[in-house]
Amino acid sequence: MSKLFLAIGECMVEMAPTAEGTYAMGFAGDTLNTAWYARKCLPGDWSVGYYTAVGTDKVSGEMLDFLKGSNIETDAVRKLDDRTVGLYLIQLKDGERSFAYWRSQSAARLLAADVARLDEAVSSAGLIYFSGITIAILSPEDRKTFLSSLRRARDAGAKVAFDPNLRPRLWEDAETMRKSVTEAAGLCDLVMPSFEDELAHFGDETPAVSADRYLAAGAKMVVVKNGPEDVICASAGERQTFQPDPVRDIVDTTAAGDSFNAAFLSEYLTGGEITASVSAAARLAGKVIRHRGALVDCLQSR
Ligand code: AMP
Repeated sequence: MSKLFLAIGECMVEMAPTAEGTYAMGFAGDTLNTAWYARKCLPGDWSVGYYTAVGTDKVSGEMLDFLKGSNIETDAVRKLDDRTVGLYLIQLKDGERSFAYWRSQSAARLLAADVARLDEAVSSAGLIYFSGITIAILSPEDRKTFLSSLRRARDAGAKVAFDPNLRPRLWEDAETMRKSVTEAAGLCDLVMPSFEDELAHFGDETPAVSADRYLAAGAKMVVVKNGPEDVICASAGERQTFQPDPVRDIVDTTAAGDSFNAAFLSEYLTGGEITASVSAAARLAGKVIRHRGALVDCLQSR
């Protein structure tokens, strides 16, 4: 198996308010968060890469520098002269955070438009990781291209992992979201949903219902996260539940699921049993939610 963990999706510029009334610029995105944590968790003989599309302007270059500085490979990234990266602004009102987005014309929306480049990128990966957001931002035609490319890579031996990360506002409509996510899950070795989303958008009554639905779609294994509640790991004929340790003093649950996925996959890909993989995952997510922000340096870098 190739020792390349390749995450695919959209990384955005983040503008976060500071105490001085200015904004601090950073970079974030669900799949990038998982790549970033995977780099912290995986041993040094694994590489972590990110596949996306960016512009050729200064801020796109700074994003690539940030990835490279985090030991994430960017060689395969598409670069487009006529687009730039997406941006979101965190707004604080009476202590509540809300988000304003400028991403509808982002370069990342064209990440699957060059199929030869995409095929080449995924062909070198041992593990391909993507999310519902990765496919939500693509045109219907590119979505098909993208899933076909993953199918080819999987047929050639890559493992594929997917977090449905259901965000209806990014999709044409809710029905398309449910259909596309179900189709994507069907070609995966691992589907890693958060029950809160599945309840809201598929109407699943319990996490076990979500697990069964994705197994029926064709997923080989499903790991359902559920905040402080039991994690369910299900595959054909087998089901295990794990209770994450309680976490006190929770500050910010941003990236709980993204970091959980990274630690789970890192342990699992390097030979860990499911039990060890879930405990590594819950341990990391438990640390991340005790700090503010998506990317929390709470592990030794390798
Ligand atoms: P979620 O995607 O919100 O279901 O959370 C992902 C993972 O983060 C969970 O499976 C837990 O391991 C951890 N987590 C999230 N929220 C909590 C919480 N309130 N208490 C303990 N662990 C949590």
